[in-house]
Amino acid sequence: MAHEENQRFDVVVVGCGVAGLSAAVAAAEAGAKVAVLERSTYDERGGNTRYTTAAIRMKSEEAVSDDFLDVFASNSGYHVQPDFIAATVLDHANRPPQVRAASFTDPDLISFFADEAPSAIAWLKAHGVKFGGIGFYGLTPRASPRIAISGGGLHLIEVMTAHAEKIGVQFFYETTAQRLLQSAKGDICGLSVTARAGGRRTIDCGAVILACGGFQGNAEMVVRYIGAKGRYLRPVALGGYYDKGEGIDMALRIGAAPAGDFAEYHAEPIDPRSGATEPLVMAYPYGILLNQQGRRFTDEAPGPIDASYETTTRAIAEQKQGIAFCILDDKINAIENWRRCVRTDQPPETASDVQTLARKLGFDGTAAEQTIAEYNRACRAGTFNPFALDGLATEGLTPDKSNYAVPLDNPPFHAYPVISSNTFTFGGLKVNTDCQVLNADGDAMPGLFAAGETVGIYYGKYPGATSVLRGAVFGRRAGERAGLVKKSG
Ligand SMILES: Cc1cc2nc3c(=O)[nH]c(=O)nc-3n(C[C@H](O)[C@H](O)[C@H](O)COP(=O)(O)OP(=O)(O)OC[C@H]3O[C@@H](n4cnc5c(N)ncnc54)[C@H](O)[C@@H]3O)c2cc1C
Repeated sequence: MAHEENQRFDVVVVGCGVAGLSAAVAAAEAGAKVAVLERSTYDERGGNTRYTTAAIRMKSEEAVSDDFLDVFASNSGYHVQPDFIAATVLDHANRPPQVRAASFTDPDLISFFADEAPSAIAWLKAHGVKFGGIGFYGLTPRASPRIAISGGGLHLIEVMTAHAEKIGVQFFYETTAQRLLQSAKGDICGLSVTARAGGRRTIDCGAVILACGGFQGNAEMVVRYIGAKGRYLRPVALGGYYDKGEGIDMALRIGAAPAGDFAEYHAEPIDPRSGATEPLVMAYPYGILLNQQGRRFTDEAPGPIDASYETTTRAIAEQKQGIAFCILDDKINAIENWRRCVRTDQPPETASDVQTLARKLGFDGTAAEQTIAEYNRACRAGTFNPFALDGLATEGLTPDKSNYAVPLDNPPFHAYPVISSNTFTFGGLKVNTDCQVLNADGDAMPGLFAAGETVGIYYGKYPGATSVLRGAVFGRRAGERAGLVKKSG
Protein backbone atom coordinates (compact mmCIF):
# COMPACT_ATOMS: atom_id res chain seq x y z
CA MET A 1 0.00 0.00 0.00
CA ALA A 2 1.28 3.47 -0.88
CA HIS A 3 1.74 5.78 2.12
CA GLU A 4 1.38 9.49 2.46
CA GLU A 5 3.49 11.56 4.80
CA ASN A 6 1.92 12.20 8.21
CA GLN A 7 -1.35 10.39 7.63
CA ARG A 8 -3.86 10.73 10.43
CA PHE A 9 -6.02 8.06 12.03
CA ASP A 10 -8.20 7.91 15.12
CA VAL A 11 -6.58 4.68 16.23
CA VAL A 12 -3.34 3.05 15.20
CA VAL A 13 -2.94 -0.61 16.14
CA VAL A 14 0.57 -2.04 16.17
CA GLY A 15 0.60 -5.71 15.20
CA CYS A 16 -1.93 -7.98 13.57
CA GLY A 17 -2.05 -11.14 15.68
CA VAL A 18 -5.18 -12.07 17.60
CA ALA A 19 -4.84 -9.04 19.89
CA GLY A 20 -4.23 -6.52 17.09
CA LEU A 21 -6.96 -7.80 14.80
CA SER A 22 -9.49 -7.97 17.63
CA ALA A 23 -8.53 -4.41 18.60
CA ALA A 24 -8.67 -3.08 15.04
CA VAL A 25 -12.08 -4.59 14.31
CA ALA A 26 -13.56 -3.44 17.62
CA ALA A 27 -12.22 0.10 17.15
CA ALA A 28 -13.52 0.31 13.58
CA GLU A 29 -16.90 -1.00 14.76
CA ALA A 30 -16.89 1.79 17.34
CA GLY A 31 -16.69 4.21 14.41
CA ALA A 32 -12.98 4.99 14.45
CA LYS A 33 -10.71 5.41 11.46
CA VAL A 34 -8.20 2.67 12.07
CA ALA A 35 -4.74 1.74 10.77
CA VAL A 36 -2.84 -1.46 11.51
CA LEU A 37 0.95 -1.44 11.31
CA GLU A 38 2.58 -4.81 10.76
CA ARG A 39 6.32 -5.37 10.40
CA SER A 40 6.00 -8.58 8.35
CA THR A 41 4.84 -9.10 4.82
CA TYR A 42 1.16 -9.83 4.18
CA ASP A 43 1.99 -13.53 3.69
CA GLU A 44 3.80 -13.82 7.04
CA ARG A 45 1.49 -11.60 9.06
CA GLY A 46 0.11 -12.61 12.41
CA GLY A 47 3.17 -13.28 14.57
CA ASN A 48 2.69 -16.13 17.03
CA THR A 49 -1.03 -16.25 16.32
CA ARG A 50 -0.42 -17.45 12.78
CA TYR A 51 1.24 -20.63 14.07
CA THR A 52 -0.78 -21.50 17.14
CA THR A 53 -3.10 -24.48 17.41
CA ALA A 54 -5.14 -22.06 19.55
CA ALA A 55 -6.19 -24.29 22.42
CA ILE A 56 -8.38 -22.31 24.83
CA ARG A 57 -8.78 -23.05 28.53
CA MET A 58 -12.57 -23.29 28.51
CA LYS A 59 -14.86 -26.21 29.22
CA SER A 60 -17.33 -24.94 26.61
CA GLU A 61 -17.81 -21.82 24.52
CA GLU A 62 -19.84 -20.44 27.43
CA ALA A 63 -17.55 -21.11 30.39
CA VAL A 64 -13.87 -20.96 31.30
CA SER A 65 -12.29 -23.99 33.00
CA ASP A 66 -13.19 -24.50 36.67
CA ASP A 67 -9.56 -23.85 37.68
CA PHE A 68 -9.24 -20.63 35.62
CA LEU A 69 -9.26 -18.10 38.47
CA ASP A 70 -7.32 -20.36 40.86
CA VAL A 71 -4.50 -20.96 38.43
CA PHE A 72 -4.11 -17.21 37.89
CA ALA A 73 -4.38 -16.51 41.61
CA SER A 74 -1.54 -18.91 42.34
CA ASN A 75 0.63 -17.35 39.62
CA SER A 76 -0.07 -13.70 40.22
CA GLY A 77 3.24 -12.40 41.57
CA TYR A 78 5.90 -13.11 44.18
CA HIS A 79 5.67 -12.22 47.90
CA VAL A 80 3.33 -9.34 47.13
CA GLN A 81 2.73 -7.03 50.10
CA PRO A 82 -0.48 -8.20 51.82
CA ASP A 83 -1.77 -4.62 52.09
CA PHE A 84 -1.32 -4.20 48.34
CA ILE A 85 -3.55 -7.21 47.74
CA ALA A 86 -6.03 -5.97 50.37
CA ALA A 87 -6.21 -2.59 48.60
CA THR A 88 -7.43 -4.23 45.40
CA VAL A 89 -10.93 -4.42 46.93
CA LEU A 90 -11.07 -0.64 46.34
CA ASP A 91 -11.99 0.83 42.97
CA HIS A 92 -8.91 1.27 40.86
CA ALA A 93 -8.97 5.06 41.19
CA ASN A 94 -9.04 4.87 45.00
CA ARG A 95 -6.09 2.54 45.37
CA PRO A 96 -2.76 4.05 46.47
CA PRO A 97 -0.55 4.89 43.46
CA GLN A 98 2.04 2.29 44.48
CA VAL A 99 -0.60 -0.41 44.42
CA ARG A 100 -1.92 0.70 41.02
CA ALA A 101 1.56 0.58 39.55
CA ALA A 102 2.96 -2.49 41.32
CA SER A 103 3.96 -5.57 39.36
CA PHE A 104 1.43 -8.24 40.31
CA THR A 105 -1.74 -9.48 38.66
CA ASP A 106 -4.65 -7.24 39.47
CA PRO A 107 -7.56 -9.52 40.50
CA ASP A 108 -9.95 -7.17 38.66
CA LEU A 109 -8.12 -7.85 35.43
CA ILE A 110 -8.38 -11.60 35.85
CA SER A 111 -12.07 -11.46 36.82
CA PHE A 112 -12.68 -9.31 33.77
CA PHE A 113 -10.74 -11.80 31.65
CA ALA A 114 -12.78 -14.79 32.90
CA ASP A 115 -16.12 -12.94 32.73
CA GLU A 116 -15.55 -11.65 29.21
CA ALA A 117 -14.15 -14.87 27.72
CA PRO A 118 -17.52 -16.33 26.59
CA SER A 119 -18.60 -13.07 25.00
CA ALA A 120 -15.27 -12.74 23.19
CA ILE A 121 -15.77 -16.23 21.76
CA ALA A 122 -19.31 -15.32 20.68
CA TRP A 123 -18.02 -12.08 19.13
CA LEU A 124 -15.33 -13.90 17.14
CA LYS A 125 -17.92 -16.47 16.04
CA ALA A 126 -20.21 -13.68 14.88
CA HIS A 127 -17.32 -12.53 12.67
CA GLY A 128 -16.92 -16.01 11.16
CA VAL A 129 -14.23 -17.61 13.37
CA LYS A 130 -15.02 -21.29 13.96
CA PHE A 131 -14.47 -23.16 17.20
CA GLY A 132 -14.37 -26.85 18.08
CA GLY A 133 -12.46 -29.45 20.05
CA ILE A 134 -8.76 -30.19 19.91
CA GLY A 135 -6.50 -33.24 19.84
CA PHE A 136 -3.88 -33.76 22.52
CA TYR A 137 -0.20 -34.65 22.51
CA GLY A 138 -0.45 -36.67 25.75
CA LEU A 139 -1.71 -40.21 26.34
CA THR A 140 -3.14 -39.42 29.79
CA PRO A 141 -6.22 -37.23 30.25
CA ARG A 142 -5.66 -33.48 30.38
CA ALA A 143 -5.48 -31.78 33.74
CA SER A 144 -8.05 -29.19 32.59
CA PRO A 145 -10.40 -28.88 29.59
CA ARG A 146 -9.84 -27.05 26.30
CA ILE A 147 -11.77 -25.86 23.29
CA ALA A 148 -9.92 -24.53 20.25
CA ILE A 149 -10.20 -22.42 17.13
CA SER A 150 -10.88 -24.86 14.29
CA GLY A 151 -8.01 -24.36 11.88
CA GLY A 152 -5.92 -22.72 14.59
CA GLY A 153 -4.66 -19.15 14.71
CA LEU A 154 -4.17 -18.98 10.95
CA HIS A 155 -7.92 -19.33 10.44
CA LEU A 156 -8.51 -16.43 12.85
CA ILE A 157 -5.92 -14.30 11.05
CA GLU A 158 -7.53 -14.92 7.68
CA VAL A 159 -11.11 -14.35 8.83
CA MET A 160 -10.41 -11.27 10.92
CA THR A 161 -8.09 -9.64 8.36
CA ALA A 162 -10.76 -10.03 5.69
CA HIS A 163 -13.39 -8.56 7.98
CA ALA A 164 -11.16 -5.67 9.04
CA GLU A 165 -10.43 -4.82 5.40
CA LYS A 166 -14.14 -4.95 4.61
CA ILE A 167 -15.01 -2.42 7.30
CA GLY A 168 -12.29 -0.02 6.20
CA VAL A 169 -9.30 -0.75 8.41
CA GLN A 170 -6.12 0.22 6.53
CA PHE A 171 -3.16 -2.15 6.78
CA PHE A 172 0.45 -1.06 6.42
CA TYR A 173 2.68 -4.12 6.01
CA GLU A 174 6.47 -4.16 6.32
CA THR A 175 6.04 -1.16 8.59
CA THR A 176 7.61 -1.26 12.02
CA ALA A 177 6.54 0.98 14.88
CA GLN A 178 9.60 2.46 16.60
CA ARG A 179 8.63 5.29 18.90
CA LEU A 180 5.56 6.82 20.53
CA LEU A 181 4.94 10.52 19.97
CA GLN A 182 3.43 12.69 22.69
CA SER A 183 1.84 16.12 22.67
CA ALA A 184 3.16 18.87 24.92
CA LYS A 185 0.57 17.72 27.48
CA GLY A 186 1.89 14.19 27.32
CA ASP A 187 -1.02 12.63 25.42
CA ILE A 188 -0.14 10.04 22.80
CA CYS A 189 -0.52 11.71 19.42
CA GLY A 190 1.28 9.47 16.97
CA LEU A 191 3.99 7.02 16.13
CA SER A 192 7.31 7.16 14.43
CA VAL A 193 7.57 4.19 12.08
CA THR A 194 10.01 2.68 9.63
CA ALA A 195 8.64 1.31 6.39
CA ARG A 196 10.91 -1.04 4.41
CA ALA A 197 9.87 0.69 1.23
CA GLY A 198 9.97 4.28 2.36
CA GLY A 199 12.16 4.82 5.41
CA ARG A 200 11.07 6.68 8.51
CA ARG A 201 7.81 8.63 8.79
CA THR A 202 5.30 9.65 11.42
CA ILE A 203 1.64 8.71 11.67
CA ASP A 204 -0.63 10.99 13.67
CA CYS A 205 -3.48 9.56 15.69
CA GLY A 206 -5.68 9.95 18.74
CA ALA A 207 -4.81 6.60 20.28
CA VAL A 208 -2.27 3.83 19.89
CA ILE A 209 -2.94 0.19 20.74
CA LEU A 210 0.26 -1.76 21.25
CA ALA A 211 -0.50 -5.37 20.26
CA CYS A 212 2.91 -6.30 18.94
CA GLY A 213 3.74 -9.36 21.01
CA GLY A 214 6.41 -10.01 23.60
CA PHE A 215 10.20 -9.93 23.16
CA GLN A 216 10.92 -13.58 22.36
CA GLY A 217 12.33 -12.53 18.97
CA ASN A 218 14.87 -10.14 20.49
CA ALA A 219 18.00 -11.99 21.66
CA GLU A 220 19.31 -8.98 23.56
CA MET A 221 16.11 -8.43 25.57
CA VAL A 222 15.74 -12.17 26.22
CA VAL A 223 19.17 -12.37 27.86
CA ARG A 224 18.75 -8.98 29.55
CA TYR A 225 15.55 -10.06 31.29
CA ILE A 226 15.57 -13.87 31.40
CA GLY A 227 19.29 -14.27 32.04
CA ALA A 228 22.17 -16.19 30.49
CA LYS A 229 20.06 -19.27 29.75
CA GLY A 230 18.10 -17.04 27.37
CA ARG A 231 20.80 -17.56 24.75
CA TYR A 232 19.68 -21.21 24.40
CA LEU A 233 16.01 -20.37 23.93
CA ARG A 234 14.50 -19.93 20.52
CA PRO A 235 10.95 -19.08 19.50
CA VAL A 236 8.78 -22.16 19.08
CA ALA A 237 7.68 -21.07 15.60
CA LEU A 238 8.70 -18.52 12.98
CA GLY A 239 6.07 -16.03 14.12
CA GLY A 240 7.89 -15.42 17.40
CA TYR A 241 10.89 -13.98 15.60
CA TYR A 242 8.77 -10.97 14.61
CA ASP A 243 8.04 -10.10 18.23
CA LYS A 244 11.08 -8.04 19.19
CA GLY A 245 9.74 -6.14 22.15
CA GLU A 246 9.53 -2.64 20.63
CA GLY A 247 6.01 -2.13 21.97
CA ILE A 248 7.06 -2.87 25.53
CA ASP A 249 10.27 -0.91 25.19
CA MET A 250 8.73 2.22 23.63
CA ALA A 251 6.08 2.40 26.37
CA LEU A 252 8.55 1.81 29.22
CA ARG A 253 10.74 4.57 27.78
CA ILE A 254 7.95 7.11 28.25
CA GLY A 255 7.12 6.01 31.77
CA ALA A 256 4.80 2.99 31.56
CA ALA A 257 4.67 0.62 34.53
CA PRO A 258 6.07 -2.86 33.93
CA ALA A 259 3.99 -5.91 34.82
CA GLY A 260 4.31 -9.64 34.30
CA ASP A 261 7.29 -11.81 35.09
CA PHE A 262 10.19 -10.33 33.14
CA ALA A 263 12.41 -13.26 34.13
CA GLU A 264 10.05 -15.95 32.78
CA TYR A 265 8.65 -17.23 29.53
CA HIS A 266 6.34 -19.97 28.34
CA ALA A 267 8.57 -23.02 27.84
CA GLU A 268 7.80 -25.93 25.52
CA PRO A 269 10.12 -28.92 24.92
CA ILE A 270 11.20 -29.09 21.27
CA ASP A 271 13.62 -30.97 19.04
CA PRO A 272 16.47 -28.58 18.10
CA ARG A 273 17.10 -30.55 14.86
CA SER A 274 13.70 -29.56 13.50
CA GLY A 275 12.66 -26.34 11.78
CA ALA A 276 8.99 -27.29 11.88
CA THR A 277 6.43 -25.32 13.84
CA GLU A 278 6.28 -26.44 17.49
CA PRO A 279 8.32 -29.67 17.03
CA LEU A 280 7.35 -31.03 20.44
CA VAL A 281 9.02 -33.95 22.18
CA MET A 282 6.60 -35.04 24.91
CA ALA A 283 7.59 -38.74 25.14
CA TYR A 284 10.13 -38.31 27.97
CA PRO A 285 7.70 -39.40 30.75
CA TYR A 286 8.06 -42.93 29.29
CA GLY A 287 11.85 -42.83 29.51
CA ILE A 288 14.40 -40.59 31.17
CA LEU A 289 16.02 -37.23 30.48
CA LEU A 290 19.81 -36.99 30.60
CA ASN A 291 21.97 -33.89 30.34
CA GLN A 292 25.25 -33.65 28.38
CA GLN A 293 27.06 -35.12 31.40
CA GLY A 294 24.86 -38.22 31.16
CA ARG A 295 23.00 -37.44 34.41
CA ARG A 296 19.32 -37.20 35.27
CA PHE A 297 18.32 -33.82 36.72
CA THR A 298 14.52 -33.87 37.08
CA ASP A 299 11.48 -36.05 37.73
CA GLU A 300 10.37 -36.85 34.18
CA ALA A 301 6.78 -37.73 35.17
CA PRO A 302 5.70 -35.67 38.19
CA GLY A 303 2.05 -35.35 37.08
CA PRO A 304 -0.22 -34.83 34.07
CA ILE A 305 1.98 -33.75 31.18
CA ASP A 306 -0.02 -30.63 30.30
CA ALA A 307 0.37 -29.40 33.89
CA SER A 308 4.05 -30.34 34.30
CA TYR A 309 5.90 -29.91 31.00
CA GLU A 310 6.70 -26.25 31.55
CA THR A 311 8.59 -26.93 34.80
CA THR A 312 10.44 -29.87 33.22
CA THR A 313 11.32 -27.82 30.15
CA ARG A 314 12.63 -24.92 32.20
CA ALA A 315 14.89 -27.44 34.00
CA ILE A 316 16.25 -28.47 30.59
CA ALA A 317 17.11 -24.82 29.85
CA GLU A 318 19.22 -24.77 33.05
CA GLN A 319 21.45 -27.63 31.84
CA LYS A 320 24.77 -27.16 30.06
CA GLN A 321 24.09 -25.70 26.57
CA GLY A 322 20.39 -25.77 27.45
CA ILE A 323 19.97 -29.27 26.09
CA ALA A 324 18.83 -32.71 27.31
CA PHE A 325 18.31 -36.10 25.73
CA CYS A 326 15.14 -38.15 26.00
CA ILE A 327 16.19 -41.80 26.25
CA LEU A 328 13.65 -44.53 25.51
CA ASP A 329 14.03 -48.26 25.00
CA ASP A 330 12.16 -50.33 22.45
CA LYS A 331 9.25 -50.99 24.84
CA ILE A 332 8.00 -47.58 23.70
CA ASN A 333 6.87 -49.21 20.45
CA ALA A 334 4.48 -51.42 22.41
CA ILE A 335 2.54 -48.33 23.58
CA GLU A 336 -0.37 -47.65 21.27
CA ASN A 337 -0.25 -44.20 19.64
CA TRP A 338 2.90 -43.15 21.49
CA ARG A 339 3.98 -41.06 18.49
CA ARG A 340 1.16 -38.68 19.32
CA CYS A 341 3.53 -37.39 22.01
CA VAL A 342 6.10 -36.34 19.42
CA ARG A 343 5.52 -33.60 16.86
CA THR A 344 9.07 -33.24 15.58
CA ASP A 345 9.56 -34.15 11.94
CA GLN A 346 12.93 -35.74 12.80
CA PRO A 347 13.18 -39.45 13.67
CA PRO A 348 14.83 -40.43 16.95
CA GLU A 349 18.43 -41.63 16.86
CA THR A 350 18.33 -45.40 17.34
CA ALA A 351 21.14 -47.77 18.35
CA SER A 352 21.61 -51.12 20.03
CA ASP A 353 23.64 -49.50 22.81
CA VAL A 354 23.64 -46.20 24.67
CA GLN A 355 27.30 -45.42 23.91
CA THR A 356 26.50 -45.22 20.20
CA LEU A 357 23.56 -42.89 20.88
CA ALA A 358 25.80 -40.75 23.04
CA ARG A 359 28.41 -40.45 20.29
CA LYS A 360 25.75 -39.52 17.74
CA LEU A 361 24.04 -36.89 19.90
CA GLY A 362 26.95 -35.60 22.00
CA PHE A 363 26.47 -36.65 25.60
CA ASP A 364 28.67 -38.65 27.99
CA GLY A 365 27.94 -42.29 27.15
CA THR A 366 29.82 -43.87 30.06
CA ALA A 367 28.03 -41.70 32.61
CA ALA A 368 24.75 -42.34 30.79
CA GLU A 369 25.19 -46.11 31.12
CA GLN A 370 25.86 -45.71 34.84
CA THR A 371 22.81 -43.45 35.23
CA ILE A 372 20.58 -45.93 33.40
CA ALA A 373 21.88 -48.82 35.54
CA GLU A 374 21.12 -46.84 38.73
CA TYR A 375 17.69 -45.92 37.42
CA ASN A 376 16.92 -49.53 36.45
CA ARG A 377 17.87 -50.70 39.96
CA ALA A 378 15.48 -48.12 41.47
CA CYS A 379 12.47 -49.33 39.44
CA ARG A 380 10.16 -51.59 41.42
CA ALA A 381 7.56 -54.20 40.51
CA GLY A 382 4.11 -52.88 39.56
CA THR A 383 1.75 -52.35 36.68
CA PHE A 384 2.88 -49.91 34.02
CA ASN A 385 -0.01 -47.96 32.50
CA PRO A 386 0.93 -45.19 30.07
CA PHE A 387 -2.70 -44.02 29.79
CA ALA A 388 -3.10 -42.89 33.41
CA LEU A 389 -0.82 -41.63 36.16
CA ASP A 390 0.19 -45.15 37.19
CA GLY A 391 2.10 -44.22 40.37
CA LEU A 392 4.88 -46.59 39.35
CA ALA A 393 7.69 -44.63 40.99
CA THR A 394 11.38 -45.24 41.57
CA GLU A 395 12.64 -46.06 45.05
CA GLY A 396 15.70 -44.42 46.59
CA LEU A 397 16.68 -42.46 43.49
CA THR A 398 17.55 -38.78 43.29
CA PRO A 399 15.72 -37.19 41.64
CA ASP A 400 12.76 -39.58 41.84
CA LYS A 401 10.65 -40.51 38.88
CA SER A 402 7.03 -40.48 40.08
CA ASN A 403 5.24 -42.42 37.33
CA TYR A 404 6.02 -44.84 34.48
CA ALA A 405 9.27 -46.00 36.11
CA VAL A 406 10.10 -49.18 34.20
CA PRO A 407 13.68 -50.26 33.44
CA LEU A 408 15.33 -49.19 30.20
CA ASP A 409 16.68 -52.60 29.25
CA ASN A 410 15.12 -53.53 25.95
CA PRO A 411 17.31 -52.49 22.99
CA PRO A 412 17.39 -50.89 20.56
CA PHE A 413 17.47 -47.60 22.46
CA HIS A 414 16.00 -44.43 21.00
CA ALA A 415 16.91 -40.83 21.78
CA TYR A 416 15.65 -37.35 20.95
CA PRO A 417 17.59 -34.20 21.79
CA VAL A 418 15.32 -31.69 23.58
CA ILE A 419 15.71 -27.96 24.20
CA SER A 420 13.39 -25.39 25.69
CA SER A 421 11.66 -23.09 23.24
CA ASN A 422 10.49 -19.62 24.19
CA THR A 423 6.86 -19.61 23.09
CA PHE A 424 6.40 -16.10 24.43
CA THR A 425 7.75 -13.88 27.16
CA PHE A 426 5.81 -12.86 30.28
CA GLY A 427 7.17 -9.36 30.90
CA GLY A 428 5.06 -6.53 29.54
CA LEU A 429 3.03 -3.45 30.39
CA LYS A 430 0.60 -2.87 33.22
CA VAL A 431 -2.95 -2.08 32.11
CA ASN A 432 -6.31 -1.52 33.75
CA THR A 433 -9.55 -3.24 32.72
CA ASP A 434 -9.98 -0.68 29.93
CA CYS A 435 -6.60 -1.83 28.58
CA GLN A 436 -5.18 1.64 29.17
CA VAL A 437 -1.47 1.47 29.85
CA LEU A 438 -0.66 2.69 33.36
CA ASN A 439 2.31 4.85 34.20
CA ALA A 440 4.70 4.38 37.10
CA ASP A 441 2.20 6.12 39.40
CA GLY A 442 -0.61 3.84 38.30
CA ASP A 443 -2.42 6.48 36.23
CA ALA A 444 -3.73 5.81 32.74
CA MET A 445 -1.50 7.23 30.02
CA PRO A 446 -3.85 9.23 27.78
CA GLY A 447 -4.23 7.65 24.36
CA LEU A 448 -2.11 4.56 25.08
CA PHE A 449 -3.62 1.06 25.14
CA ALA A 450 -2.10 -2.41 25.02
CA ALA A 451 -3.27 -5.99 24.54
CA GLY A 452 -2.01 -9.53 24.05
CA GLU A 453 1.56 -10.52 24.83
CA THR A 454 2.55 -6.85 25.12
CA VAL A 455 0.61 -6.79 28.40
CA GLY A 456 2.15 -8.50 31.45
CA ILE A 457 -0.27 -10.75 33.33
CA TYR A 458 1.67 -13.98 33.87
CA TYR A 459 4.01 -14.79 36.75
CA GLY A 460 5.74 -18.09 37.50
CA LYS A 461 3.98 -20.87 35.67
CA TYR A 462 1.90 -20.21 32.54
CA PRO A 463 -1.80 -21.03 32.96
CA GLY A 464 -1.85 -23.09 29.76
CA ALA A 465 -4.08 -22.20 26.82
CA THR A 466 -4.93 -18.68 27.96
CA SER A 467 -2.80 -16.51 25.67
CA VAL A 468 -4.92 -16.60 22.51
CA LEU A 469 -7.96 -15.93 24.68
CA ARG A 470 -6.16 -13.04 26.39
CA GLY A 471 -5.44 -11.56 22.95
CA ALA A 472 -9.11 -11.78 21.98
CA VAL A 473 -10.58 -10.50 25.27
CA PHE A 474 -8.14 -7.64 25.88
CA GLY A 475 -7.69 -6.81 22.20
CA ARG A 476 -11.41 -6.39 21.77
CA ARG A 477 -11.68 -4.25 24.92
CA ALA A 478 -8.71 -2.09 23.89
CA GLY A 479 -10.34 -1.48 20.51
CA GLU A 480 -13.71 -0.60 22.02
CA ARG A 481 -12.15 1.89 24.43
CA ALA A 482 -9.60 3.37 22.03
CA GLY A 483 -12.37 3.74 19.47
CA LEU A 484 -13.93 6.29 21.80
CA VAL A 485 -10.84 8.49 21.56
CA LYS A 486 -11.83 10.00 18.23
CA LYS A 487 -9.78 13.07 17.62
CA SER A 488 -9.17 13.34 13.90
CA GLY A 489 -11.07 15.76 11.76
C1 LIG B 1 3.32 -22.75 17.90
C2 LIG B 1 2.54 -22.02 18.97
C3 LIG B 1 1.56 -22.68 19.66
C4 LIG B 1 0.83 -22.00 20.64
N1 LIG B 1 -0.21 -22.65 21.25
C5 LIG B 1 -1.07 -21.93 21.99
C6 LIG B 1 -2.31 -22.49 22.41
O1 LIG B 1 -2.62 -23.64 22.07
N2 LIG B 1 -3.14 -21.71 23.19
C7 LIG B 1 -2.81 -20.43 23.55
O2 LIG B 1 -3.59 -19.78 24.22
N3 LIG B 1 -1.65 -19.88 23.13
C8 LIG B 1 -0.80 -20.58 22.35
N4 LIG B 1 0.34 -19.99 21.88
C9 LIG B 1 0.61 -18.59 22.26
C10 LIG B 1 -0.31 -17.65 21.49
O3 LIG B 1 -0.46 -18.10 20.16
C11 LIG B 1 0.22 -16.24 21.50
O4 LIG B 1 0.65 -15.84 22.77
C12 LIG B 1 -0.82 -15.24 20.98
O5 LIG B 1 -1.35 -15.69 19.74
C13 LIG B 1 -0.16 -13.89 20.84
O6 LIG B 1 -1.03 -12.99 20.22
P1 LIG B 1 -0.60 -11.46 20.11
O7 LIG B 1 -1.59 -10.84 19.19
O8 LIG B 1 -0.38 -10.87 21.43
O9 LIG B 1 0.84 -11.48 19.41
P2 LIG B 1 1.28 -12.03 17.98
O10 LIG B 1 0.32 -13.02 17.47
O11 LIG B 1 2.69 -12.50 18.10
O12 LIG B 1 1.19 -10.77 17.04
C14 LIG B 1 2.07 -9.68 17.18
C15 LIG B 1 2.21 -9.02 15.81
O13 LIG B 1 2.92 -7.79 15.97
C16 LIG B 1 3.85 -7.64 14.90
N5 LIG B 1 4.89 -6.72 15.37
C17 LIG B 1 5.80 -6.94 16.34
N6 LIG B 1 6.53 -5.83 16.57
C18 LIG B 1 6.07 -4.89 15.72
C19 LIG B 1 6.41 -3.53 15.48
N7 LIG B 1 7.36 -2.90 16.19
N8 LIG B 1 5.73 -2.86 14.50
C20 LIG B 1 4.76 -3.47 13.77
N9 LIG B 1 4.41 -4.76 13.97
C21 LIG B 1 5.04 -5.46 14.93
C22 LIG B 1 4.31 -9.06 14.64
O14 LIG B 1 4.87 -9.20 13.36
C23 LIG B 1 3.01 -9.84 14.82
O15 LIG B 1 2.30 -9.95 13.61
C24 LIG B 1 1.11 -20.65 20.93
C25 LIG B 1 2.10 -19.99 20.22
C26 LIG B 1 2.80 -20.65 19.24
C27 LIG B 1 3.83 -19.90 18.45
